[in-house]
Amino acid sequence: MANPSILILPGDGIGPEVMAEVRKIIDWFGAKRGLVFDVSEDLIGGAAYDAHGVPLTDEALAKAQTVDAVLLGAVGGPKYDNLDFALKPERGLLRIRKEMDLFSNLRPAQCFDALADFSSLKRDVVAGLDIMIVRELTSGVYFGEPRGIFTEGNERVGINTQRYTESEIARVARSAFELAKRRNNKVCSMEKANVMESGILWREVVQKVHDEEYPEVELSHMYADAGAMQLCRWPKQFDVIVTDNLFGDILSDCAAMLTGSLGMLPSASLGAPMANGRPKALYEPVHGSAPDIAGRGKANPIACILSFAMALRYSFDQGVEADRLERAVETVLAKGLRTADLMGPEGGKPVSTSEMGDAIVAALDADAN
Ligand code: NAD
Repeated sequence: MANPSILILPGDGIGPEVMAEVRKIIDWFGAKRGLVFDVSEDLIGGAAYDAHGVPLTDEALAKAQTVDAVLLGAVGGPKYDNLDFALKPERGLLRIRKEMDLFSNLRPAQCFDALADFSSLKRDVVAGLDIMIVRELTSGVYFGEPRGIFTEGNERVGINTQRYTESEIARVARSAFELAKRRNNKVCSMEKANVMESGILWREVVQKVHDEEYPEVELSHMYADAGAMQLCRWPKQFDVIVTDNLFGDILSDCAAMLTGSLGMLPSASLGAPMANGRPKALYEPVHGSAPDIAGRGKANPIACILSFAMALRYSFDQGVEADRLERAVETVLAKGLRTADLMGPEGGKPVSTSEMGDAIVAALDADAN
């Protein structure tokens, strides 16, 4: 059987720096666990614009459509700020997400014990936290028609439309139930069925998908505003949260910040299953290209490394290896190794981007022996 395939798109700024550390990890899994990937690399963002005059070539997009998983660093930078809108680095990212029809956005909020004091919440509220927000990504109020700013009488009116079809709700609900089966088997669906018809439909469809296809998963429903309160009050009550595009945007940022630094946050965007049964998938850190620290060895590679752990779990069915990688990250953090963004009042051993990557590889080695 062919090796699983990965397309790496390092992008701009710290993207290539953090991706270099992921390469070390991928090589380790090939050499030490017999998990060999066919890895190819291409350009996206400003790097693609510099080489080809566009932020994503058709060839790179075609590759992304055929591999088992895409790993992306980050795009953007001040050098490209004055480009035409269609040529900006971020357009490359939007195009790849849209063309791959990645409708299910996974944002974990996981708090490593060693970093629990980084959260603005009390240690006992966040230590050991491990929840997953599944946000619908390609529909809802960010896309619904009519939209625009119109004139009515003497004044202007701004309009956006929240619109969801049953099939759009059902597919993201399935994605959440599938995830829950690999985790703690619990889904909480959030909407505003008390005031929005789209919310009533959302609740009905999620319940129907549950009853007909996933009765073994525990399902609850919560209004999104109450969900926001519960996330801050006692986030550990949740396992998987599934919600629409707008609420997901807000709730996932809120949940992410429960855990501390931007340099720690991975994400995945999943689409429909391909012929081999794997979902189309793009994995990327939540952070951007961080031009303020690029090229100085200061970037934290953990968000990108944890994105690869998500790829192991959700694209390659390698949950045990994903656990192994997350354990290695936990180990180096527990030893006090800190990139600059993780330096809190309690101090720690300052390390560069590549030293952090090397330490995680060493922890993998120690764990495997
Ligand atoms: P950013 O995420 O790049 O940086 C915000 C702050 O967090 C900066 O101070 C940065 O130094 C720090 N930071 C980010 N990632 C870090 C890491 N791994 N380790 C240590 N510190 C880290 O956001 P920004 O400054 O608003 O945007 C910079 C550029 O990135 C812009 O061009 C923006 O459009 C782009 N951007 C891209 C993406 C993406 O590629 N997905 C996401 C957000 C922003």
